Amino acid sequence: MQSISRRGFVVSAAAAGAAFGLDGALDFGGQAFAQAPAGPEVVKFKLGDLEVIQMSDGIWEKAHDEKFIRNASLDETKAALKAAGLTDAYVPIPFTVTAVRTQGGLVLFDSGTGAQLAPTAGNITKNNLWKAAGIDPASVTNIVITHFHGDHISGLMAKDTNEPIFPNAQIHVPAAEYKFWTNPTVTAGAAKRIQAVFPNWKNIRQFEGEIEVLPGVRAISTPGHTPGHTSYHMGSGNQQLVVLGDLTNIRALNLTNPGWHLVFDADPNLAEAGRRKMFDRAVAEGITLTGYHWGMPGAGKLTKQGNGYGFEPVKA
Ligand SMILES: [Zn+2]
Repeated sequence: MQSISRRGFVVSAAAAGAAFGLDGALDFGGQAFAQAPAGPEVVKFKLGDLEVIQMSDGIWEKAHDEKFIRNASLDETKAALKAAGLTDAYVPIPFTVTAVRTQGGLVLFDSGTGAQLAPTAGNITKNNLWKAAGIDPASVTNIVITHFHGDHISGLMAKDTNEPIFPNAQIHVPAAEYKFWTNPTVTAGAAKRIQAVFPNWKNIRQFEGEIEVLPGVRAISTPGHTPGHTSYHMGSGNQQLVVLGDLTNIRALNLTNPGWHLVFDADPNLAEAGRRKMFDRAVAEGITLTGYHWGMPGAGKLTKQGNGYGFEPVKA
């Protein structure tokens, strides 16, 4: 099963700016939000023992901004979008929540925007999406988080009340990420909300380093985008999957140009080093990668292509 329906979802720039942990760094003013070209809402595929289920939470049509890529011009950005077959009227940034059925059970990676960033986002809060994915959200018992930007964790908390959306789930978070965002001197993005909510939740488990977080799910430390950013590896041989999180932004930008420094990366040089290391490993080992902002189908293998990387999407 691949295509359930095709709809576009958009979020407001201001809300998404907050979600990305930006602190007024970008000018989000005055753009129109047209319907984005969206892929299917749910994609499922198998990788050995793993069943991968990807759910589209929506697409943010980010207005162009000269500051968006620190070391590329607006013209270069538009050219890269166009070369990838995307519109160059704005930057289409999808949100993709990945679930994997492993031998140990279902694991959810990140939680979506929770319909809290804009009225048009938050497909992940709709029962129909979960139904199409074949997952009962009440049965989710393990959620693994890549990092604490709002577009990845808002789906854990109810709007206004901050009540847990997944009360039956244990939420596994990198200790370095938790430590950074719960430091009261950090105020960017979702920091204040994190500081008000997470310390009171009993179901958050912090883990240190590159451990096996859950049976068959191994953490890979990939700092740079945020201080504790972590990716996750599953499977073996030619049936390996890595959930990248935000080790890259959209493919049209960061696969073609792994050296482009997007404003969302807190430490762009560290982010780039981790990105290149992961991409080269993925090419060498034939690893299937998926990025939170890769859209649908949101997973595939990489090939070396010029100074960047080509992409062969999974067959769903
Ligand atoms: Zn993100």
